[in-house]
Amino acid sequence: MAITLEDLPIRDDLRGQSPYGAPQKHVRVQLNVNENTHPVPEDVAEDIVAAIRQALTTVNRYPDREFTELRESLAGYLGHGLGAESIWAANGSNEVIQQLLQAFGGPGRSVLGFPPTYSMHSIIASGTGSRWIAAERDAEFRISPETAVAAVQQHRPDLVFLCGPNNPTGTPLDLATIEAVYDATDGIVMVDEAYAEFMPAGQPTALTLLPGRPRLVVSRTMSKAFAFAGARVGYLAADPAVIDALRLVRLPYHLSALTQAAAVAALRHAPEMLRMVDDIRGQRDRMVTELRAMGYQPHETWSNFVLFGGVADPRAAFESLLERDVIVRDLGIPNHLRVSAGTTEETTAFLDAMRAVAAEQP
Ligand code: PMP
Repeated sequence: MAITLEDLPIRDDLRGQSPYGAPQKHVRVQLNVNENTHPVPEDVAEDIVAAIRQALTTVNRYPDREFTELRESLAGYLGHGLGAESIWAANGSNEVIQQLLQAFGGPGRSVLGFPPTYSMHSIIASGTGSRWIAAERDAEFRISPETAVAAVQQHRPDLVFLCGPNNPTGTPLDLATIEAVYDATDGIVMVDEAYAEFMPAGQPTALTLLPGRPRLVVSRTMSKAFAFAGARVGYLAADPAVIDALRLVRLPYHLSALTQAAAVAALRHAPEMLRMVDDIRGQRDRMVTELRAMGYQPHETWSNFVLFGGVADPRAAFESLLERDVIVRDLGIPNHLRVSAGTTEETTAFLDAMRAVAAEQP
């Protein structure tokens, strides 16, 4: 008989848990994990290759443990008067968040979040032995300052996770909510801004709240707007003292020399790497308009994806789209599916397939 996980002397608190499991399928139109569906421009890719080639000549040595050049590049990209001492990076923002919980969460400590939200927040909480507490949202997935403060006062968590724009709903996050949560807790407040670049132009982000708030942490990623998901580069901005805390838990040399070189080269081309953001926002808005015209109920989104309700049987609709070579995400939210904005052609393919599904599932 084959051994299963349950036969192993695994930690009791991991028994019965499920891993992160967005399906990875070879489908023509992949709109299920909120990637940027536009590839890195050819001239940028060539510059990145040249940087990696150069880095390879010294790859017999360990990389810069402090990834100073990358932190300087990220600080320059973020602006807001931030210096390299306020920036930290890791292999995707998932790892950044994990390091934050290793330092500030852990056994005997709790993390408060507001589902439906990014599933890895609770999975990283459990992986680090932190207790996950789920609080309620208001109507339309919003979180008012009052609702957030009431949850903080009730549960007294060690960390509060906010996500703006929120995945999987796309919901904007009010700065007033972040400020109110910060004032209501002595713990760390982490704002996950993975989708910040897709917000309407000119909207202030949580970065504007950092001065004078040493317990506020803002995480970002190059995976989405920057079209760099496969390279695995996430980062955060916070008080330099928070960065000191992360140095206690990171593995030495966690960012490879190749990753550092690739990210620095990509950041040199930030405007070009971000060129597709407007186009993606346009395709997202087109999805919202056309889904509404089909009778579905798309929710307000400031992100590169759309959560829509009115799907009679999400599982069947997911399968039916898959048969048409389109993959979206069924997150288990009753009567809802989530779809990432694609290129013009991919968006057209999704909308055409969705019209066929609507005809099957009136
Ligand atoms: N935060 C949010 C809200 C996300 O949706 C994602 C990716 N789906 C991440 C963080 C992780 O991104 P990465 O690890 O690729 O930086």
